Amino acid sequence: MSLNPKNALNFSGGPGALPEVVLNQVQQSIINVPEVGLSILGISHRSAWFEAVVRETEDNIRKLLNLPDDFHILFLQGGATQQFSQVPMTMLRGKKHAAEYLDTGYWSRKVVTEAMREGPVKVVWSGESDGYRRLPTEEELTFSPDAPYIHYVSNETVEGLQFNRVLGHDHVPRVCDMSSDFLSKPCEADKFSLIYAHAQKNIGPAGVTIVLIRDSVVQNGTKDLPAFLDYRRQIEAHSNLNTPPVFAIYVVLLVTRWLLNDIGGVEKMGEINRVKADLLFSILDNSDDFYHSWAAPEHRSDMNVAFTLPTKEIEAAFFEETRAADFSGLEGHRAIGGVRASIYNALSVSSVEKLAGFMQDFQRRHRK
Ligand code: PMP
Repeated sequence: MSLNPKNALNFSGGPGALPEVVLNQVQQSIINVPEVGLSILGISHRSAWFEAVVRETEDNIRKLLNLPDDFHILFLQGGATQQFSQVPMTMLRGKKHAAEYLDTGYWSRKVVTEAMREGPVKVVWSGESDGYRRLPTEEELTFSPDAPYIHYVSNETVEGLQFNRVLGHDHVPRVCDMSSDFLSKPCEADKFSLIYAHAQKNIGPAGVTIVLIRDSVVQNGTKDLPAFLDYRRQIEAHSNLNTPPVFAIYVVLLVTRWLLNDIGGVEKMGEINRVKADLLFSILDNSDDFYHSWAAPEHRSDMNVAFTLPTKEIEAAFFEETRAADFSGLEGHRAIGGVRASIYNALSVSSVEKLAGFMQDFQRRHRK
């Protein structure tokens, strides 16, 4: 039986909806994790069971992304925001040459601000003058061979802009914030030196951030950092340096099992996500500009479909009617307003079909 049918229509930008099969297992685990006989909320982080949870979650992510052996996988706290600082602390502090950052939207702007506290930063491209409605073409990007690393955000969650290619050159380390599209499709992880992603969009609840980091980055990184902020110490401790978010990591384990066993891997997940995004964008494209897409067509995201309506009054009616029809989470980010339908992994094709149907009907009724 369904736990709560409204979950199926939760288009929240994050924390996002989780698969119902996972929620059912989570519900059970609050009372009793079957193989332990205790509530998940009261199991020691030093137990053999939790060590096995960490190991299996790592193995599942390794399998899902075909991750090379020289990557460490970490489950850290502090959200993606902590990585905005921890990355430059490790890779930029004391460096002469600038790290090269792309400024493609709300989240990259925040990353740049934090990186500048740690060392020289060059913004190689900014979407600001275009109002962050598009991403750079290959011709617009020139990277320096001397940069300690390049950094970009693979999917700008607020504006709904997603790269469909890997940027940069193989001889300069690539660092990427994949918070809003991690494990939503294959990502060519082997081309990166460091990938970070918080869990609360596609793979779990808030409270844990996954970091994939190459051993060479760890070896060459800054050496005198506080233990909590030192990737090396976190690796030695197998993500168990202090009390980790046991519950959040367990939920990530359940989602990775779901991705492997129920969905059939990230390739398949990517195909499903594409079907969902195509469905919504076709409504936008065939609406005679009643629904106006925020993102330029070639840079649209498969995760966040941001759009506006003809007037503020019609937009207010849209929110009112969607709420009455049990949809939730459709309000755009406060930075840009409008509507944003986030269609992360757990949103099913049939849920997106329901929204698409609603939008067509709404347009018929409200077209002037
Ligand atoms: N990066 C991206 C792409 C995001 O979407 C967000 C939050 N939605 C963040 C970073 C910040 O994440 P956190 O709140 O976990 O620090």
